[in-house]
Amino acid sequence: MIKQVGNKVFCESIVNAHSHGFQYAMAGLAEYSSNQSDSFWTWRDSMYRLVSEMNLDKFAEINRKFLTKCLESGYGHVVEFHYLHHVTNDPLDTVKCLYDLASDVGIGMTVVPVFYHSGGFEQKIKETQKRFYFESPTKFLNHVEACSHLIPKSGNHRLGYGVHSLRACPIKWVKEITSAFHHLPFHIHLSEQVAEVRECVKHYGKPPTQLFLEEQGDHPNMHLVHATNVSDEELHMIVDQNAHVVICPTTEANLGDGYFPLRKFLRLGGKFSIGSDSHVTVNPWEEMRWLDYQDRLQHQDRLGLFDAKPEDYRPELLYKAVLDGGKAAAGVAGSYLEDYFLGPMDSHSDLREHLAKKIYVS
Ligand SMILES: [Zn+2]
Repeated sequence: MIKQVGNKVFCESIVNAHSHGFQYAMAGLAEYSSNQSDSFWTWRDSMYRLVSEMNLDKFAEINRKFLTKCLESGYGHVVEFHYLHHVTNDPLDTVKCLYDLASDVGIGMTVVPVFYHSGGFEQKIKETQKRFYFESPTKFLNHVEACSHLIPKSGNHRLGYGVHSLRACPIKWVKEITSAFHHLPFHIHLSEQVAEVRECVKHYGKPPTQLFLEEQGDHPNMHLVHATNVSDEELHMIVDQNAHVVICPTTEANLGDGYFPLRKFLRLGGKFSIGSDSHVTVNPWEEMRWLDYQDRLQHQDRLGLFDAKPEDYRPELLYKAVLDGGKAAAGVAGSYLEDYFLGPMDSHSDLREHLAKKIYVS
């Protein structure tokens, strides 16, 4: 996992388990106040403006920059949660573009096309969301099937699929979609915002994570993105169904979502990965630092995230959990990702200290 080659130290690179590559174009540019109550929802309006101006050349240019940055910073594979389907007349064009770019840049790619149908809970699609739209589950599932023929033969590329959120998919269609492809990792945004949880309870009488897990059937490889605002009961349900959580610490902080109760989740045996999501930060080490620091601040102690033996080295536990969780999210469990150069060999007697320095020192 961490190795010395000559006078250099390497580790296995990490999966970026949740990305919307095109959003890299607006990373860091949404810090102007537009009104008295800036929030996730006003940020989303800015993102919709970016979407309305997108063409395939711009899409490729942004994603190339983003994937190059990922590779430099320590990600060896990206899970692209893809809902910007209609940049051209053919939704396969952006999928092909993503695989081509990843092959060119030299990074692994799991494209996750996601179903997007409604403009909110049981609401019609809005004009600003039409580039995401699929008319029916059947049309979407046929599209996923067509995407499977685009996976490049060489390189470490995969396909997943999913649903954007329960805001974007009527609950009556969830099971039809989750049942379709059990061999692909399934991803969905859930319970990111308190307002979203309240709306869901208003419409369906239950919060999104609980509702989804009750409805989804028995998909064997589920990845719930964010799950920030969940109850203890929902945490238990996630673990019982062997679903994983994809945490995006810097995006969740930037958007004021809240933080996922990771310590509690780990005590239950929960599994997780990390993603850069809106890409305010493209740096897996910083995401890991944030995860741990959120936990320390919340509990006012140190090194308590994992329930481990004194001799277990905490930075290694964190790295290993993120590495394994990411591979499951990308559908590449069992494969070895590219080496990442941690730094020159120095006076550290324990190689693992290079890992700790990478996570905690910047
Ligand atoms: Zn997202």
